[in-house]
Amino acid sequence: WKNAPPNLRAIALLGQSHGQREFVIYEDDRVTYDAWFRAVATLAHEFKSRGVEKGDRVALAMRNLPEWPVVFFAAVTVGAICVPLNAWWTGPELAYGLENSGTKLLVCDEERWERIAEYRDQCPALETVFVARAEAAHEGVAALESVIGQPLTYADLPSRELPDVDIAPDDDATIFYTSGTTGKPKGALGTHRNLCTNILSSGYNAGCAVLRRGETIPEPVPKTGLTVIPLFHVTACSAGLMGNIVAGNTLVFMHKWDPVEAFKIIEREKVNSTGGVPTIAWQLLEHPERKNYDLSSIEAIAYGGAPAAPELVRKIREEFGALPGNGWGMTETMATVTGHSSEDYLNRPDSCGPPVAVADLKIMSEDGSRELPVGEIGELWARGPMVVKGYWKNPEATSETFVDGWVKTGDLARLDEEGWCYIADRAKDMIIRGGENIYSSEVENVLYDHPAVTDAALVGLPHQQLGEEPAAVVHLAPGTEASEAELQEWVADRLARFKVPVRIVFSKETLPRNANGKILKKELASFF
Ligand code: ATP
Ligand code: MG
Repeated sequence: WKNAPPNLRAIALLGQSHGQREFVIYEDDRVTYDAWFRAVATLAHEFKSRGVEKGDRVALAMRNLPEWPVVFFAAVTVGAICVPLNAWWTGPELAYGLENSGTKLLVCDEERWERIAEYRDQCPALETVFVARAEAAHEGVAALESVIGQPLTYADLPSRELPDVDIAPDDDATIFYTSGTTGKPKGALGTHRNLCTNILSSGYNAGCAVLRRGETIPEPVPKTGLTVIPLFHVTACSAGLMGNIVAGNTLVFMHKWDPVEAFKIIEREKVNSTGGVPTIAWQLLEHPERKNYDLSSIEAIAYGGAPAAPELVRKIREEFGALPGNGWGMTETMATVTGHSSEDYLNRPDSCGPPVAVADLKIMSEDGSRELPVGEIGELWARGPMVVKGYWKNPEATSETFVDGWVKTGDLARLDEEGWCYIADRAKDMIIRGGENIYSSEVENVLYDHPAVTDAALVGLPHQQLGEEPAAVVHLAPGTEASEAELQEWVADRLARFKVPVRIVFSKETLPRNANGKILKKELASFF
């Protein structure tokens, strides 16, 4: 199993085989697959010589620097469990991740270290910290320099093999923390198999060619992708990194998300695909400067992680001439479980697609006792080789959420006759008004359809007799106008009366989101 899939060592070796193709472009750095692999192997030996053993936790807390995939693969190829920490977290939150995971060795950038340093004594297991100097990032291999203690460039690194470590497909590989949208982030313990499954899933998602007898597989043309979402989020690491490494694609990383910077990169590097979360796609579409750049190289804009308005699908097609794609997944499933793109998605713009080839979905009653028929909304359960073992050091939450190989997703959804999935809401966000269920996405999508609305969130306001009433916070496109009454009428013309928000308030800013592009509904209470 050592070097065969499903094993992340195999992914590293496949990456190595792409040789002098460019893997990561970051500002002035251009790192080839060969240089990346040499850095991975060097750092992996360094980890070994510093006592990192199989199952030890190695945490990673940095921006999307070229060193991110170096540290990640160095850790997992020696059998350590890599813990990518949310780079948006504050000092105490980072300390929680380090303490909760029992991290032994941490590689971080200077910005993260400034936040963590004072909490170091709250992390008793933490023995070694490597801090990548910010300016070293531009000289190359910042993380390695901090380990070896002398300036390095990728060119200096010797060719080496990976350390000889036995790893089985079901050995632990990662702890990714959930986004913390509904509570404290939980560490999802994933295996090599879980992460490798994404390669298959993303190939399927992109519409694998079905070959007829006698046809040969066309030579794949390497593509360039713009990675705009943080790598510590499971989608960027699994769907984003893994499939691209196998295909030998080039990824451009950004220091910080900025639409105009993205336009410049797309034009300069002739980027073929981008996306990540729906907000990014909206921002690309609606930015007034878009027209000043040549973005004709863009072929696909795909996203997941948060509800996407059906209107977005049409706009991507019409205004970018690109293929829109959507996928559903969660940290507990190492990202992709459903996905579709192009015509399928255009025909069902309110769906997140059918399950990928190796996944099963079912819709269960609220108490989990019975499966619901086609078309009925209930809790979505998912099964497949991407579902993680459970939550790290949290047996109670594990036994509540993982049942007989299924993960209870906490999302309310329905399936259609052909198995396409439609997410209605998170169970925790659903509003019950006098016994009638109101699913956020239905009302939000109607609001998004209004020409002036670019951001919308439905929340429940407490009501003495009804329990809850729906209310909305919206953000309007610059230069447009709409009144509360006009938007209420817009909804009333399209949905049953009880679903019409009793109040609609306007936010000058776009709505607050976390690092993964999800609207933080908890923070919207202050609007009412
Ligand atoms: P926490 O579990 O800590 O509260 P979280 O659920 O936001 O946070 P993630 O694992 O990052 O953490 O997100 C998974 C959730 O994101 C799903 O359960 C679902 O609610 C939402 N989601 C993911 N993909 C889609 C999609 N394509 N359409 C709609 N919602 C999606
Ligand atoms: Mg969740």
